[in-house]
Amino acid sequence: MSAAALDPVLARGERMARVRDAMRAADVDVLLLSRGADLPWLCGYEAMPLERITMLVVPVDDEATLVVPELEAPRVAHDSRLFRLRPWREIEDPIALIVGLVGRATRLGISDRTWASHLLALEKALPAATFAPAGRVTSRLRAIKDPAEVAALRAAGAAADRVSDALLGGEIRLAGRTEAEVSKEIGERLVAEGHRRVNFAIVGSGPNSASPHHEPGARVIGAGEPVVCDFGGTYYLDDSVGYCSDTTRTVVAGGAEPDPEFRELYRVLEDAQRRAVEASVVGTPCEQVDAVGRELIAAAGYGDAFIHRIGHGIGIEEHEDPYMVSGNSEPLTAGHAFSVEPGIYLQGRFGARIEDILVATGDGPLACNAADHSLHVVN
Ligand code: ZN
Ligand code: ZN
Ligand code: ZN
Repeated sequence: MSAAALDPVLARGERMARVRDAMRAADVDVLLLSRGADLPWLCGYEAMPLERITMLVVPVDDEATLVVPELEAPRVAHDSRLFRLRPWREIEDPIALIVGLVGRATRLGISDRTWASHLLALEKALPAATFAPAGRVTSRLRAIKDPAEVAALRAAGAAADRVSDALLGGEIRLAGRTEAEVSKEIGERLVAEGHRRVNFAIVGSGPNSASPHHEPGARVIGAGEPVVCDFGGTYYLDDSVGYCSDTTRTVVAGGAEPDPEFRELYRVLEDAQRRAVEASVVGTPCEQVDAVGRELIAAAGYGDAFIHRIGHGIGIEEHEDPYMVSGNSEPLTAGHAFSVEPGIYLQGRFGARIEDILVATGDGPLACNAADHSLHVVN
């Protein structure tokens, strides 16, 4: 491991250098980073999602400045090797401050999740400027995780796995409880296992298991019903930046046998997921990972029932580059972190999904999730 991998400031300094190279290649003079993942990735600080503007101004060949509300400045773990800190007082105009830092530059990149109100104010104050999404510069760089980021994703995955193990082991009672109750328990367990935040805990039972993004509700889970549990949170390995977990296991609530067709569907799904993981080797186009899983599911007659891409990148954001989807010919690169999560959904009947997070390495895919895939009939 290099010194940079061990020292977060040096690692961020390396990221900043790579961002500046990418800015030159993309003809971007200044990057303006506000809410979203680019800012914490580069300077270890997450902007508060409030109306006061926080913005890291990164000129292609001048020092970066973090413009931050004065009352939030104490939250910033500032290291002057990375950026200058410019707190703005309540009576100052932060837009004028940012415009001053932009200077005569006109080709600007702005982070994808900046509030529209802030972008509109900047556009008005900088009539000669053109704005491009900062993701054009940052997202391909951010997609490739360094060793410290891989360590954080593995710790997040291991914590989520401990919840999966409780689910598969029957510690989380299903039959007779509502989806919302089970969702709440999964969320509490994610936190108990070390996550700082719960991002989602989907619990879809019976016919709701065929709705991939089902909102868990008052439905009482019945004996023998499939239950899709897809959950994740944000895990902080150090105190600066959190990384996401995201995993899915589908189980059967005990007390009755599942529909025989569900067992068959699950067998197909388990095989497709495993084969798609095996295909996730460095150099393989992202879309090929999707195609491998999709062809197996289609060959079993369930092609129309697999209604989403097979996976997404993951890191500081739950969904980010690279996307494992038809049309993305980008080759998998060592350090890419992503989900492989095929699903088969028979509307009005039942569905299933299996999801693990992987990191592409020169030695093949490294699994961040290791909980069992075989179909469990649980309490
Ligand atoms: Zn999703
Ligand atoms: Zn998920
Ligand atoms: Zn996912």
